[in-house]
Amino acid sequence: MKFWFVSGSQLMYGEETLREVAENSKVLTDFLRAKLPFAVEYKGTVKSDEEARAMVVGANSDPDCGGIIVWCHTFSPSKMWIVALGLLQKPYLHLHTQINRSIPNDAIDMDYMNLHQSAHGDREHGFLTERLRMPREIVSGYYQDEKVIKSIGDWQRAAVGVSESKSLKVARFGDNMRNVAVTEGDKIEAQIKLGWQVNTFPVGQLVEEMGNVTKQEIQTKMAEYSSLYTMKDEDTGAVAYQAIEEIALKKILDQEGCKAFSNTFEDLYGMRQLPGLATQNLMRQGYGYGGEGDWKVSALTRIAKVMSDAPSTFMEDYTYDYDAGLVLGSHMLEVCPSIAEDKPRIEVHPLGIGGKEPPARLSFTGKSGAATATCLIDMGQYFRLICADVECVPPINTYPHLPVARTMWKPMPNLEEGAAAWIRAGGAHHTVLSYGVTADMWRMFSRIMGIQFVSIGKNTDLYPLEKELELGDLLWTLKR
Ligand code: MN
Repeated sequence: MKFWFVSGSQLMYGEETLREVAENSKVLTDFLRAKLPFAVEYKGTVKSDEEARAMVVGANSDPDCGGIIVWCHTFSPSKMWIVALGLLQKPYLHLHTQINRSIPNDAIDMDYMNLHQSAHGDREHGFLTERLRMPREIVSGYYQDEKVIKSIGDWQRAAVGVSESKSLKVARFGDNMRNVAVTEGDKIEAQIKLGWQVNTFPVGQLVEEMGNVTKQEIQTKMAEYSSLYTMKDEDTGAVAYQAIEEIALKKILDQEGCKAFSNTFEDLYGMRQLPGLATQNLMRQGYGYGGEGDWKVSALTRIAKVMSDAPSTFMEDYTYDYDAGLVLGSHMLEVCPSIAEDKPRIEVHPLGIGGKEPPARLSFTGKSGAATATCLIDMGQYFRLICADVECVPPINTYPHLPVARTMWKPMPNLEEGAAAWIRAGGAHHTVLSYGVTADMWRMFSRIMGIQFVSIGKNTDLYPLEKELELGDLLWTLKR
C-alpha cells in the first residue's frame, strides 16, 4: 500500500510561491518515506475545485492507495474542497506541520509569511473537515519529530487494516457454539460497517477435501512441522492427521479467497480430531481464526496481523491468579505460535469435550511485553470495539499438567478493575491479543469504520467509563 501526500494552496500567491510549496512538499515527502512503515508519494498541490476532485477520485479508484495525507502549506480556502471531500472513500490524515522548525530571524518578511502559513491554512481546512463531520486523524507537530512520525505510521497501519477489512472474506465451518451469546452477531451489518463477507462452508466439504490430500503433501507438511517445532516419534500418526486437516483447510480458504475462518468442536462431523496444530500453523501463516464459530474475533485477528508484523493471536481469558494479579490466557488448542517465547512443542492429549480423538496441538509460553486484548461485540443497533491494554509477563509457574499454549498478563489498571471495566463494557471472553496493534491504532480503525471504540487502560476509572457507555449508547443508537 502507498499513501498519497497532497498539499493545499491556491493561485493567489503566484508561480514562485507555488514552486516553493511543491519543492518543500517533496522534501517533506522524501523525509517521511524513509521513516514510515508504508510508502508515501507526493501527488501535487491542490489549488482549485477541479484539482481537489480529480485528486480524490484518483485516490478512490486506486486500489493501492491506502489513504490521503493533506497539509495546507499556505492558506487554502477550503470551500474548493467541499465537493471533493464529499466523494472521499479513503482514510484521511490532516498533517499540521511546517517545513521550518523555528522562525528565521533575518529571513522573515511578508513573502515568508505568505509561504509558511499552515498555522492559518490548516485552521481553515480543519474547520471545513469538522463542518463536514469527516472521520479524520489530525497529527500536529514538526514533521521530523519522532512523535509525529510515529503517529503518522500508526495511522498508516490503521488505514491498511481498513483496506484489509473492506475486502475480507471469513469462512465459517459450522455455526456458532450452541447457546453462546457473545459470539453471535449481525453478519449483514458487519458487511455494511466493516466490509466483512462472512459465509458458511459445509464441514462435509472439508472432510471431502481431506480425502483428496496426497501422501506427498502430507510428507512436505510433516517436514515443515519438524523444522519449526519439536515432536515425539510416537505422535506421528496424530500429527499427520492435523497435516491433512491443515492442507484441506488451506485449499478451501485459498480457493474461496478467505483470509480468516472459524470452526467449532460441536461440528466436526466426519473428522477424527479438532484441528489444533492445523489451525495454529495456519494462524502463523497470517490467517485469522476464531474458536466456537466466533467469526468476529477471527476477522479481527486477520486485520491485526495485517496492521502489524508483531505477533497477534486469537486468545481467551481463561483463569485468574488473584495473588499475582494476573490472567492466564489460553484456549482449548488454538493459540498462534507467533507469540511463542520458546520453541513450540507438538503434543497430543485428550480434549475432555467433543468426544473426538486426542488432537495434536502446539504447546508453548507466550512472549512478555506490552500488548492489547481486543474484541468486537454486537450491541444490536451498533458495533462496539473494546480494547484493553495489558502487560504480558513470564508465567509465574510451570503448570506441568496444562496441555496447551499459555500466556499470562496483567490487565490495566489492575486485574480487579480491568476485569470489572471489561465486563461492564460487555467485552467477550475471546480476544485478539496483539503485541503490535496499539489501542490508538484500534481507535483510528474504529473511527474510520464508524463504529464505537472503548479503551480500557491505566487511567480507566469505572464511574467515568459507565457514563461514557451510557452516553455512547444513546449516541450510537441515534447515529445509526
Ligand atoms: Mn473459546
